[in-house]
Amino acid sequence: MDALAGAGRPVRPLVDPFARAITYLRVSVTDRCDFRCVYCMAENMTFLPKADLLSREELDRLCSAFIERGVRKLRLTGGEPLVRRGIMTLFGSLARHLRSGALEELTLTTNGSQLAKYAHELAALGIKRINVSLDTLDPEKFHAVTRWGELDKVLAGIDAAQAAGLEVKINTVALKGINENELSDLVRWAHGRGMGLTLIEVMPLGDVGGGRLDQYLPLSLVRARLADQFTLQDIGYRTGGPARYMRVAETGGRLGFITPLTHNFCESCNRVRLTCTGTLYTCLGQEAATDLRSALRASEGTGLLDRAIEDAIARKPKGHEFIIDRRHQRPALARHMSVTGG
Ligand code: SAM
Ligand code: SF4
Repeated sequence: MDALAGAGRPVRPLVDPFARAITYLRVSVTDRCDFRCVYCMAENMTFLPKADLLSREELDRLCSAFIERGVRKLRLTGGEPLVRRGIMTLFGSLARHLRSGALEELTLTTNGSQLAKYAHELAALGIKRINVSLDTLDPEKFHAVTRWGELDKVLAGIDAAQAAGLEVKINTVALKGINENELSDLVRWAHGRGMGLTLIEVMPLGDVGGGRLDQYLPLSLVRARLADQFTLQDIGYRTGGPARYMRVAETGGRLGFITPLTHNFCESCNRVRLTCTGTLYTCLGQEAATDLRSALRASEGTGLLDRAIEDAIARKPKGHEFIIDRRHQRPALARHMSVTGG
């Protein structure tokens, strides 16, 4: 089956056994982070030895192999992507795929701590939209949630991103007893600054040193509460991600809901995730993994790697099976979100 990529090149698209075309690659460029968010990491994390990480050149080769097979959207994430040394060099080299038209979008998900430093450079490379994670506007709560983060720095980063012309979307994890009473204020704040806001349910990934039931707040409940304060209008807007979007009539802004637990979004899944060591996860919520590093390192050419990618996609699972309830408080998967990227 042939299709045309942006630049008019014929590509052999990657299609999984459930007829889903894979057009979106998320790459965790580092498992390290300058924060320790309570739902994402334990306070004492053991990170990979730096020697195990793929080099920037290897990451570029891997991403380019996926783009060659029809990936149109590439998101760098982590850990915190902007703490990886030389990250702007990687963005700079990947930006060639934007200029050629092969890639529709190159973007990142960041905690915002380094944005004041990098926002202008990112915009100059052709990056248009970014996601910034922010769970609360209360400095003390922010410190409690991120353990090591400072709200002021993140807000300055968001200012810098907007000043550089980047479209910013805020991602907020809904956390029971922590930000649940603040979510409507976050909606007003984000929309007031021209930013979309997407709410995310806590997913049971990795041992973070506490019961998940303590953190889990179903978005069905959040949505019902927000509907008491706002008029929420269903819109068909999609970004190629798993979020469902509503328009908030009072603010005119967009509100997204990512509900892996209360609403399964797998039927339309178009994405796969690559770790900083070259492991490909074809489902965020399953163990199915393929080592692409061996194929990458076994040959300078693209043949072996291309076949390894194809084989992995041919084994992409149908969907995840997350559950959090009183009987299921252990992580569904041992790996943390920072390994596969959010
Ligand atoms: N450090 C960057 C950041 O925080 O934006 C990128 C990586 S982070 C793993 C990506 C997203 O995953 C963030 O929005 C974060 O809030 C979310 N996240 C992390 N652990 C999660 C979990 N267990 N359940 C739901 N979302 C999670
Ligand atoms: Fe770091 Fe992002 Fe995980 Fe927070 S959510 S610990 S910022 S990787």
